[in-house]
Amino acid sequence: MPNEILNAPFVQSMIKATHDAWLKGWDERNGGNITLMLDEVEMLPYAEQLKGTREIMLAEPVGELAGHAFLVTGSGKYFRNVTLSPAENIGVIRVSDDGTHYRILWGLLNGAVPTSELAAHFLSHAARLKSGNLRNRVVMHCHATNLISLSYVLPLDAARLTRMLWEGSTECLVVFPDGIGVLPWMVPGTDEIGRETARLMKRHSMVLWPFHGVFGTGADLDEAFGLIDTAEKSAEIVVKVLSMGGFKQSIGRDELQALAKRFDVKPMEEALY
Ligand code: 13P
Ligand code: ZN
Repeated sequence: MPNEILNAPFVQSMIKATHDAWLKGWDERNGGNITLMLDEVEMLPYAEQLKGTREIMLAEPVGELAGHAFLVTGSGKYFRNVTLSPAENIGVIRVSDDGTHYRILWGLLNGAVPTSELAAHFLSHAARLKSGNLRNRVVMHCHATNLISLSYVLPLDAARLTRMLWEGSTECLVVFPDGIGVLPWMVPGTDEIGRETARLMKRHSMVLWPFHGVFGTGADLDEAFGLIDTAEKSAEIVVKVLSMGGFKQSIGRDELQALAKRFDVKPMEEALY
């Protein structure tokens, strides 16, 4: 079938992202979830397969997302199984015109539902739309091992954590000049953590959930994945440095400023102490 939705670039990119994240060790069991805002034009060739009718109410309406469609991972679904059966583990949903519920158009077979972190994803997408940032279409959550590890030993402070990650690898300030936001520990899967995550997403492209994982955004799956990959690599280096007795030398404030100048980025001010 020429227009088989399983071959759609958006489905293929989600299969790759979930599989790669599993290989990275970021998504044990059902850990992690991803949402990708879809473009109407890219969905058109598959219209015949996007006709599901199952509807689910949202706990909190999201008027900003009214009418928008998303490719989402399923709740309780294992990233390592997406390649085996995409239609059981991921799905396409569309928010109703009044923003109170969504319809499952494709996938999420056998009664599956979207991720339990849908509130954090939807409110982050909504915050981005509201702020006029139409670029980032992906929100990705995973249990990146070294970022989680650092949350046990570093102060849970956005400036301090950002600075540590910037020092962990030269590319970091350029990849995430707006730093990483940090929440206090909160119960996952709630509207409250969703609201707080979205609030920090207005300032940062990444948000750390201490002792749990990280949220990242990006224009597409490659960019969101690459962002988390870069921060997680830096976190791994910092974990190793701390385990080897701590920093004996590092990238200094002047050097970070020189990097910002060379690559024409505006770094998070508070992290340049
Ligand atoms: P879901 O399986 O509902 O996506 O939950 C996984 C997770 O990581 C919760 O934070
Ligand atoms: Zn999680």
